[in-house]
Amino acid sequence: MEQLRIPGPTPCPPEVLQAMTKPMISHRGGEFGQIVNTVTAKLKQFFQTKGDVFMLTSSGTGGLEATIVNTLSPGDTVLSVSIGVFGERWGTIAKQFGAEVIPLQFEWGKAADPDAIRQALRSEPKIKAVLVTHNETSTGVTNDLASISAVVKEFGKLLLVDAISSLSAINLPVDEWHCDVVVTGSQKGWMIPPGLAMVSVSEKAWQANSQAKMPRFYWDFTKARSYLEKGQTPWTPAMTTIFALAEALELMEKEGLANILARHARVGQTARDGVKSLGLSLFADEKYASNTVTAIAATNGLDPKKLNKIMREEHGIVLSGGQQKLDGKIFRIGHLGQVTEEDIKDVISALKLALPKAGFGG
Ligand SMILES: *Cc1c(COP(=O)(O)O)cnc(C)c1O
Repeated sequence: MEQLRIPGPTPCPPEVLQAMTKPMISHRGGEFGQIVNTVTAKLKQFFQTKGDVFMLTSSGTGGLEATIVNTLSPGDTVLSVSIGVFGERWGTIAKQFGAEVIPLQFEWGKAADPDAIRQALRSEPKIKAVLVTHNETSTGVTNDLASISAVVKEFGKLLLVDAISSLSAINLPVDEWHCDVVVTGSQKGWMIPPGLAMVSVSEKAWQANSQAKMPRFYWDFTKARSYLEKGQTPWTPAMTTIFALAEALELMEKEGLANILARHARVGQTARDGVKSLGLSLFADEKYASNTVTAIAATNGLDPKKLNKIMREEHGIVLSGGQQKLDGKIFRIGHLGQVTEEDIKDVISALKLALPKAGFGG
């Protein structure tokens, strides 16, 4: 079997795959209601929130769209902090629904500078919300969300966070950091297949929701809240993915959040040390390098597309390339969810053999 080392979808443990063979039951019945209630309570622990958490049947991007349409009105001004492909997407969604988007872009590979965010908020008092990517999967950079949040809250603005590739793997205490809506996706750090976006909603986000005029139906958080009171979702959910999540959350509870975060920190360090030991350079500013995905610059003659082909065909290891303007410029190793230091050491050993065949050093 191929080793999937991309930043989503990620490998699923056998127990999770087994849970997905469960027969269908009524999504309006008591048995499913119990599963929804249990899963929601556990999700709150991993979000580190006492606020609301909803499961939406969609990929992560659906959760981002849901966030925009539930908190904003056309014409609202938002600051879109972007350090890569997914930061750009976040701003584009807001723009599509009629927000006035002020972009604040940083060089790809770098983290967002909280002081620059402070300046932007100072110079444009109309800004209502700030869009931030916690972990920018396209560049392998984790933003300093605690510091960013402190700045956003100096100004009392809404903080809307794409944590699709970080939550459950990189620390994100939602309440402590005053995040108003946080979005994650099932196929990233949660060890389950695609199909669910999970979102937390703060009290301040609910206040914004009561004023928000953007059109919404499927994504309506007020419907999600009223159905959740009955252990239901407004629309038929991806039940199989929820069965998988119930199982994954049991495994995650057994390991414990602190241990999961520490494991990802060790795995991230193993990836960075490993690639550097081969003479490769990190694409990301190492101070902000992500513990869920490592981006490596294609230096020294390396053809990253050829490398990924060799890695797959000769070593059975699937890696990612670069997106958009990083296409052909980097390759990426995903290490989130079910992953150990040994898994990453295997990737490094295979890279050592594959690199010379892909032009590196030649
Ligand atoms: C994967 C990812 C997305 C997109 O998620 P989909 O599930 O593909 O819609 C958005 N933002 C970040 C940071 C991601 O890693």
